[in-house]
Amino acid sequence: MKKQEAKKVLEAVLLQDYEQLRALGVRAYGNQGRASTGTACITNLDDSKGQCNPRLAFNSSDVQDIGCPKCLETLRAIANS
Ligand SMILES: [Zn+2]
Repeated sequence: MKKQEAKKVLEAVLLQDYEQLRALGVRAYGNQGRASTGTACITNLDDSKGQCNPRLAFNSSDVQDIGCPKCLETLRAIANS
């Protein structure tokens, strides 16, 4: 993910702007437990952080469930790079 995109995604996550997240093509990953606790991962960050997002398509969840601390940290790092 590029810096400008990361900034937009981070802003949308903080504002809970799910329409914008979908418009940006953001995909969330997390099993049911993580979705219900709002700690789903952002699969678009796969390039920089593969261990957080094993490719398990059946574990996809909605963008409103995004909240993995590691993913948000990575997103901030890219946005502020
Ligand atoms: Zn994550």
